[in-house]
Amino acid sequence: MCLNFAVLRIKVMSKVLDVVQCKCPNCGKGKVFSGQGNIFLFKMPKMNERCSECNFKFEKETGFFFGAMFVSYALAVAQMIACFVLFWYFVDLSPMRVFSIIAIITILLSTFNFRVSRSIWIHLFYKV
Ligand SMILES: [Zn+2]
Repeated sequence: MCLNFAVLRIKVMSKVLDVVQCKCPNCGKGKVFSGQGNIFLFKMPKMNERCSECNFKFEKETGFFFGAMFVSYALAVAQMIACFVLFWYFVDLSPMRVFSIIAIITILLSTFNFRVSRSIWIHLFYKV
């Protein structure tokens, strides 16, 4: 019983790592994105059509990633709230500075959110 729980926990952590590292949900080896993207160069992350290891198709149908927008929105709001709590309550900055920091962090994390939200979306609908 205890061993099963430990194995389950390792599997869940492995899955979370696969999602954050944008790995293929089918094999866990291939990468979903070929390019990381760079917000300073206005370059969006480049997504692979299929997994390089197992040929798994990432976009199930046209418009499949429409729902990833909502995941991206949730991630951005969570990051904004975390920044607000950190800089408003713990660092005690002025409202304008807190707003500026939140705006900057949101822009800086936009490509990360783009990649992770699509990865979450792919993993959510794997084997469904
Ligand atoms: Zn794969």
